[in-house]
Amino acid sequence: MTQHQAVNRQTFDQVMLPIYSPAEFIPVKGQGSRVWDQQGKEYIDFAGGIAVLALGHCHPSLVAAVRKQSEKLWHVSNIFTNEEALTLAQKLINATFADRVFFVNSGAEANEAAFKLARHYAITKHSPYKTKIIAFKQAFHGRTFFTVSVGGQAKYADGFGPKPADIIHVPFNDLDAVKAVIDENTCAVVLEPVQGEGGVTAATPEFMQGLRQLCDENKALLVFDEVQSGMGRTGKLFSYMHYGIAPDVLTTAKALGGGFPISAMITTNEIAQAMEVGSHGTTYGGNPLACAVGNAAFDIINTDEVLDGVAKRRELFVSHLNKLNDKYGIFAEIRGMGLLIGAELDGKLLNRAKDILQASADEGLMMLSAGSNVLRFTPSLIISEEEINSGMEKLATAIETLLAK
Ligand SMILES: *Cc1c(COP(=O)(O)O)cnc(C)c1O
Repeated sequence: MTQHQAVNRQTFDQVMLPIYSPAEFIPVKGQGSRVWDQQGKEYIDFAGGIAVLALGHCHPSLVAAVRKQSEKLWHVSNIFTNEEALTLAQKLINATFADRVFFVNSGAEANEAAFKLARHYAITKHSPYKTKIIAFKQAFHGRTFFTVSVGGQAKYADGFGPKPADIIHVPFNDLDAVKAVIDENTCAVVLEPVQGEGGVTAATPEFMQGLRQLCDENKALLVFDEVQSGMGRTGKLFSYMHYGIAPDVLTTAKALGGGFPISAMITTNEIAQAMEVGSHGTTYGGNPLACAVGNAAFDIINTDEVLDGVAKRRELFVSHLNKLNDKYGIFAEIRGMGLLIGAELDGKLLNRAKDILQASADEGLMMLSAGSNVLRFTPSLIISEEEINSGMEKLATAIETLLAK
C-alpha cells in the first residue's frame, strides 16, 4: 500500500491555495443525503455539493455506471468520438429546444463556449461590431476570465488586470434597463433564469418573455446559464420550461453528472453552423466515463417520479422555514424555485449566514449560503421526508443556539 501522512483540516491551511475556508470537518463517506466525517460523526446534507448531487451521494445507478464504464473505456479525446457522448447528446436534444451539443467538464467551460459562440455567430453572421454582451448584476457564470467578466460581481472579477471588453451589466428583472442598452450591436443577453450564487432570485415571467422579444427584435442570442438551475433542480428538466419560452443557447453542468465532472452547451442547428472544425475545442470534454455517468443520471432525473417530487419537497422545506420565521422573525424572504431555495436573513441574524453554517455543522447538518445574508438549500432531488425533517430540526437547534448567545 502507498505510504502517506495522516491529513486533517489543518493540513488544508498548509498545502492548499488559500482561496477557500472550508468547514472544520472532513467528509469521508456519503450515502443518499447522509455524510460521515473522519471522526464518524453523521451529517444531513442540505448543500448537495452546491446543487451537484441531484441524486444524493453514491446513488447505486451512478456507482454502477462508473464501475461498468471504468472497466471498458475512459478516454479517447475528440480525435475520436464515442458512444456514450453521442447517446447523451441525443437525450439532451430530444428533451429540449436544442439540436447540437458541445460537452466540456465544468460550468465555466460551458459558459466560455456559449459566450465565444455568441460572439462568433454575431461577427460571422451579422457584423464585426456586434459584440456587446448584456448581463446582470449579481450574476455568476464561473471563474475563467471571460465568464467572471460576464458575471456581475466585482469581488470575483476585479484585480486581474484588463478584462474582455464590451460587456454591460444591468439590474436583474428590470426589463427597462435592458431596453435602454440593447441595440443592433448586441450579440447576446446572458442570464441565469434563477440566479444562484447571487442570492437565489428567480426571473419573473414578464422579464423572461420580454427578453425573448427584445433579443428577437435586435437579432441577439438569448443565453441561459442553467448550470445551477438545470437538470431537474426546479421541478422541470430545465427551468426555462416554466416560462413558455426557449433560449438560443443553454449551458448545463452541476447536476448533469450527479457529482462526476461534466457540462454541456446546447444550441440550435442554425447557430451551431457558425462554428467549424477547429473553432473551439477541449481535451477531456465528452469523455466516455463522464458521459456514461451523465447518461445514468439523465435517465433517472428526467422522469416524472423525480421531477414531480421536487415541488412537494420544496413545500416541506418552505413550511419548516415559515415555522422558524414565525417563531423567531429571522427571514426577510423565502424564495427561489423548486429545490433551489433561498432564505434571506433578517433581524438578529442579518448577515450571519457564515455563523449559521458553522452552528449547523456542529449539529450535524451541511448547509450552504449565497453571499453573507442568504441561506441556500440545494439538496438531493430525492432527499427523503425524514431527512428533510431531521435536517430542519438540526437547523432550528443551530439557530436557537445562535439566538441564545
Ligand atoms: C456553479 C456555476 C457556474 C460555474 O461552474 P463551475 O463548474 O464551477 O465552473 C456557472 N454558472 C452558474 C449559474 C453556476 O451556478
